[in-house]
Amino acid sequence: MASRAQNHLQKPPKQPPRILKKQWSIDDFEIGKPLGKGKFGRVYLAREIKSKYVVALKIIFKEQIEKYRLHHQLRRELEIQSSLRHPNVLRLFGWFHDDERIFLILEYAHGGELYKELRKFRTFSEEQAATYIASLTQALAYCHEKHVIHRDIKPENLLLDHEGRLKIGDFGWSVQSRSKRRTMCGTLDYLAPEMVENKAHDYAVDNWTLGVLCYEFVYGMPPFEAESQKDTFRRIIKVDLNFPSTPQVSPEAKNLISRLLVKDSSKRLALEKIMDHPWIIKNANPIGACWN
Ligand code: AMP
Repeated sequence: MASRAQNHLQKPPKQPPRILKKQWSIDDFEIGKPLGKGKFGRVYLAREIKSKYVVALKIIFKEQIEKYRLHHQLRRELEIQSSLRHPNVLRLFGWFHDDERIFLILEYAHGGELYKELRKFRTFSEEQAATYIASLTQALAYCHEKHVIHRDIKPENLLLDHEGRLKIGDFGWSVQSRSKRRTMCGTLDYLAPEMVENKAHDYAVDNWTLGVLCYEFVYGMPPFEAESQKDTFRRIIKVDLNFPSTPQVSPEAKNLISRLLVKDSSKRLALEKIMDHPWIIKNANPIGACWN
């Protein structure tokens, strides 16, 4: 198939209109340093030559997508992500392909992975943690309104922009990658009990994950971590939740965590109530940026 045969460009901000009508190809971009490597390809810093607009270009090899029969799913997820417009959701401006590769034109998240920040500092201050939780809550409320359940929120899927503003960066388009990571790296940690037990689930799985993340941000490890996956599994199902004495964490933070990590999904704190929770009101930066 010709390299310019398909084009699904969404409007990047502050772009002159003439660029929007263009059929994209790799020749329109200057490729810069590699930003990272995922399961299906690599991500590079890139600049659209005419506008000088800086983006992240994700290159996915078609062979991999075909091997795992992910073509339809990838397409659906790309359509979802490119339709979303929220300050805490990474923009997918468009995509194009050549014979071997699919190129995703993504918003560049200068701060990289939230996961790396968390590993570097071990824990976040309550102000920082509350700001991230509030940003995520607002992004998820927006997604839920659009009938999108993320289901795979975890620090590795969260990116930061140049001001430390959180961006949901990956719409989990790869079931293959998700299930593989689940067995290999224990991402079971973020799953709600109903998902672990393979029961029907709804939007409330994302609320559970917010509780797990909030715990991990303030304590430096996920709440149900265990030696084996089997034990994590058991702890999640029992909601075996403990609050260690160190580091010291405020009672309000513990209250929010306890109201999200509730086995009965219908009793978990609703997203709009998270925004009204005293811990969020007291600690979250309303601008959503964590760095100055
Ligand atoms: P992924 O294939 O999405 O797992 O991406 C691999 C790595 O590339 C991530 O772990 C990030 O470090 C980096 N990366 C992906 N997307 C972006 C982006 N939009 N801006 C900056 N870095 C990114």
